[in-house]
Amino acid sequence: MNDAKRADVALLRCKDYESQKLDSIIAQAAEIAGFPDIKGATVLVKPNILNASPSAKAVTTHPAFVGAVIRFIKSRGAKDVLVGDSPGWQPSVLAAKTSGIYDAIQHNGGTWADFREASPHPVAGGKKLRNVPLTTLLKQADVVINLPKLKNHRLMTYTGAMKNLFGLIPGTAKSAMHLQYPGVLDFGEMLVDIALSVPRCFTFMDGVIAMQGEGPGSGTPYSLGIVLASQSVAMIDWVAARCVGYDPTRIAYLVDGMRRTHGSATIAEPATYPLSVPEIGHEGFEKLPYSSELGKRLNALPNTLRSFAGSLIRLRPISHTGKCVGCGACVEICPTKALKLDKKHSSNTIRIDDRLCITCFCCHEVCPAKAITVGRAPLRIAHRPRNLPRYS
Ligand code: SF4
Ligand code: SF4
Repeated sequence: MNDAKRADVALLRCKDYESQKLDSIIAQAAEIAGFPDIKGATVLVKPNILNASPSAKAVTTHPAFVGAVIRFIKSRGAKDVLVGDSPGWQPSVLAAKTSGIYDAIQHNGGTWADFREASPHPVAGGKKLRNVPLTTLLKQADVVINLPKLKNHRLMTYTGAMKNLFGLIPGTAKSAMHLQYPGVLDFGEMLVDIALSVPRCFTFMDGVIAMQGEGPGSGTPYSLGIVLASQSVAMIDWVAARCVGYDPTRIAYLVDGMRRTHGSATIAEPATYPLSVPEIGHEGFEKLPYSSELGKRLNALPNTLRSFAGSLIRLRPISHTGKCVGCGACVEICPTKALKLDKKHSSNTIRIDDRLCITCFCCHEVCPAKAITVGRAPLRIAHRPRNLPRYS
């Protein structure tokens, strides 16, 4: 498609994961959004492989989508195509195999690349970070191709391109970032620091089947039927969030990403082509509350009231004994060691220490059994220490 119109964000209809259709749509999206010259390059592809879930659950980027992008990259003359991720607690290969992504890589001529080692990566102009430990594979790569899944996210409300690049941090080091930046506003600024520091990054987003409800791990699939592409992680997130009915001006890290991308406080709507956002229907899509707004409301209170009000209205992880399969994932990933698993013959119980919990919802994110939900628990007063971090 040599005469394609250029736009900030390519926005195309794609109803299913049929491979020939995907090949054509990926090529069109690349042309519209200005895909870089990758002849002879080593390319690092980063799908979302959150955990070992089958593709039908819409937790991971769909394997057919990953396969189509690998074919496209190879058709553009790349020398090597490395594909990898690093789930928070499970072995990467297990997660890649269960999702079907491992097979898609093998069948299409890519190379599986585990994110095991990290090295310091400079973050020029970061608000929170000066450097961050990212996969050493970044040093080998000339270009990063980011392949997020469009999903809800309990902590961040929406997740897509910027949040997917957080996965360039190998393994449980991600939990340490939650501990360092426990509030949604601080954590969001840290995410933007990382996302905007990844050089030569191009994003194709899988919005064919999105995730609604309790994302990013426990929601349900939603047939949205779109593929997006962009050189800008901030612009593609802005457009994708609008496509499922969110007002991105109410999601703090999306605003931060756009402001830093534009270098000013003014946010211009990204241009899309061939579709416009209002043409994308999202009827019945189950959205989540705007989490950063709660943080701002609590911050406006005096210190003496903030802790008590936070105990009453903050969202908390809630465990459900009857559903727990005793896998221990939540205990392993919790950055503050706030969880304890009591294994019994008839049932397993997860105990949550509210004095330690920073409400990062990593436990909710990794639970494979929907045994940890998120909600209000006003009777669970946190009794936090006096020198609390702000609820950002
Ligand atoms: S209990 Fe869950 S929400 Fe609380 S700090 Fe641990 S992982 Fe985060
Ligand atoms: S609550 Fe979920 S993640 Fe935690 S041990 Fe039970 S099943 Fe596993």
